Amino acid sequence: MNQDINGVWNSWNENISFNYKSLYKINSEEELQEVVRNSEKIRVFGNKQSSSDIVSGASTLVDIKTYNKILSFNDSEKTVTVQSGVILGDLLEAIEAKGWCIPCLPDINTITIGGALTTGTHGTSGKLLSEYMTECKIILADGSLKEITEKDKLIHAVRVSLGVLGVLSEITFKCEDIYTLHVKEGPENDSDWLPKIKERLKKHDFLRILWLPHTDKGYVIIGDKIAADTEIQENLGPKFLKHRRKASKILYKYTHIFPWITAIANKLLYRGFFSATKEHKGSLYQATVTKSRGSTLELAEWTIGLDKFPTVFEELKTEINKWSNKSFIHIPMDVRFIYKDTSWLSYAYEEDIVTMGCVSRNAATADTYEAFKSIEKIFLKYGGKPHWGKRFTAKDAELSKIYDKWEDFKVLRKELDPNNKFLNPYLAELFNEKLTTNETT
Ligand SMILES: Cc1cc2nc3c(=O)[nH]c(=O)nc-3n(C[C@H](O)[C@H](O)[C@H](O)COP(=O)(O)OP(=O)(O)OC[C@H]3O[C@@H](n4cnc5c(N)ncnc54)[C@H](O)[C@@H]3O)c2cc1C
Repeated sequence: MNQDINGVWNSWNENISFNYKSLYKINSEEELQEVVRNSEKIRVFGNKQSSSDIVSGASTLVDIKTYNKILSFNDSEKTVTVQSGVILGDLLEAIEAKGWCIPCLPDINTITIGGALTTGTHGTSGKLLSEYMTECKIILADGSLKEITEKDKLIHAVRVSLGVLGVLSEITFKCEDIYTLHVKEGPENDSDWLPKIKERLKKHDFLRILWLPHTDKGYVIIGDKIAADTEIQENLGPKFLKHRRKASKILYKYTHIFPWITAIANKLLYRGFFSATKEHKGSLYQATVTKSRGSTLELAEWTIGLDKFPTVFEELKTEINKWSNKSFIHIPMDVRFIYKDTSWLSYAYEEDIVTMGCVSRNAATADTYEAFKSIEKIFLKYGGKPHWGKRFTAKDAELSKIYDKWEDFKVLRKELDPNNKFLNPYLAELFNEKLTTNETT
């Protein structure tokens, strides 16, 4: 294994930095077990693309990206087993080559499987990615290995576990046959798309709305499964659409100083990049997942029960449209839909939910982005839950009210990691644990 000593760890967008004493790159399960066993405080990181401070901040770090083999396929069960550092895009290409898919995908392919699972990463019109994990091996704080299958109750705690119960080693996913999605996209007034959500969820296989704050519009993306050879009228829109992110970056450049510029920028971006319709087809991965991103950004995302969403949406819209506050929000706010599951720290624990993203395209000035505060205040008021990998300030006091299984998770965490080996300062605060001074880096 490879060890680097006394360096500085920076997150993807360079908003979070920590000193470390040792950073390991490992290649085998045995090496991973050895590092975990011999470390006092340890965090494992993937592609560092989380906006919340859950990744680093321990004296020992493991870069899991070198632990990235696709280990085996089981053709009769349609399962694939991988090491947890595999990049999502690599996994998806390998299973597409088998004629399989994972039927609900996030809009990013550069993340690691370990990072994606532990933070509750999700797409739309399906379940969290972690719900497609049927088995895993996890390395506990003492370095021992535990195998967990769908038959074990522990799987409900481990599926979304912020990396605090142990380190995910090997993961098995249940796949489905690949399908072709016929995608139609176009703008709609808020008064049109909002009341149609439930009807569209029933009717279509894919639904995502890129809400465009300060324009009264949403850009609605609908997908239906079709036979692969069905002919469609392909329309990818004007060529300049690919420059949307670059144009946003320029238009939002000074919005941290003059937030109101956002309202004007959004209207221009709507006219330039969201007013055309599009039609295309492809696999879920090829047709809906962004493959390259030119610039960094900072994210928050909140989730709320499907039935409460219209109320929360209207309140948020009223709030951000008040020129008396500074909560102008960059385009788009990604609205997606997740079906209920049984994972303790899942946003969709026992209820269908809506997720709503909030982006700051100026990553460096995200601390002054009022929108993050407004969205948190409104969603928390209605019992909404924050995305674990994104920015939020709620801690134990708030989280214990919104997660039915919060206390159970805390008890289990303490049982599996009595010396808080996997907690960094941020996670210690989240779980209301005190770290002694020499436990922090
Ligand atoms: C541009 C962009 C788009 C995004 N799109 C989406 C989206 O569509 N849907 C969505 O839900 N989220 C989305 N996210 C959030 C993203 O999926 C999560 O933040 C994810 O965790 C990032 O993966 P990573 O490999 O970078 O993990 P990191 O940020 O490096 O790590 C995340 C967490 O996972 C833990 N971890 C990593 N590997 C392991 C392991 N093997 N065992 C135990 N713990 C481990 C780390 O300790 C850390 O706590 C997006 C983020 C960005 C920047």
